[in-house]
Amino acid sequence: MRDPELRTPSVRKTPASGRGSVSLVEGRVLRSLRELRAATNECRRCQLYRLATQGVPGEGPAPAPLMLVGEQPGDQEDLAGRPFIGPAGAILDRALYEAGIDRDKTYVTNAVKHFKFEPRGKRRLHAKPNTQEIQACNWWLAQELQHVKPRLVIALGASAARAVLGRTVTISSMRGAATPLSEERDAWVTIHPSYLLRMPDEIQQRAEYARFVQELEAAREWLQARPSSESSGA
Ligand code: SF4
Repeated sequence: MRDPELRTPSVRKTPASGRGSVSLVEGRVLRSLRELRAATNECRRCQLYRLATQGVPGEGPAPAPLMLVGEQPGDQEDLAGRPFIGPAGAILDRALYEAGIDRDKTYVTNAVKHFKFEPRGKRRLHAKPNTQEIQACNWWLAQELQHVKPRLVIALGASAARAVLGRTVTISSMRGAATPLSEERDAWVTIHPSYLLRMPDEIQQRAEYARFVQELEAAREWLQARPSSESSGA
């Protein structure tokens, strides 16, 4: 995964601070996901912090064999500070259960940590993060990968795939198969559960949901056949 932000003046690698530690700002070092959670609220790498309530980092165990990456927090996630707890999260939870994946043993996060939206009266309508925002936030995803050390990363939707793979891809050309990220890590691309919420046709929605579950199940089986030395407990 490309990480151009690591080369910006405000972010310096600090080997003297310990293996895996990275200076976020002058005098600040991230050693754990708990510190990362607090630090996202100080991030000014892009403009999305301005309107959002708070940064929403991932949650789950570290290390973990499996990481799920979505696009960005939604309205409810923004208010609660937790990923995938809204309508799309409910679909994801059900699909994970049916696919035999334990969410409690999975690290769940988003490519972009602040909610991007357009105000419409009292409502806040989801707005898709652009490439620059995804790239800016990639620094945080790299931090999470460093701490969680997943064997498999499932990218949910095109924005997540862009963040995880470092290039723009179409879901239809990538879904349902592993793509190597490194010697120790692979990616798996599928749809974002919010895609199902937007489908007007119920029959089509049911068929697409079934395919989503099948792909998650296939990813679980793939992972079980390739245990990682760094993470365990799928
Ligand atoms: S969206 Fe990501 S890069 Fe932008 S301010 Fe928030 S944490 Fe920083």
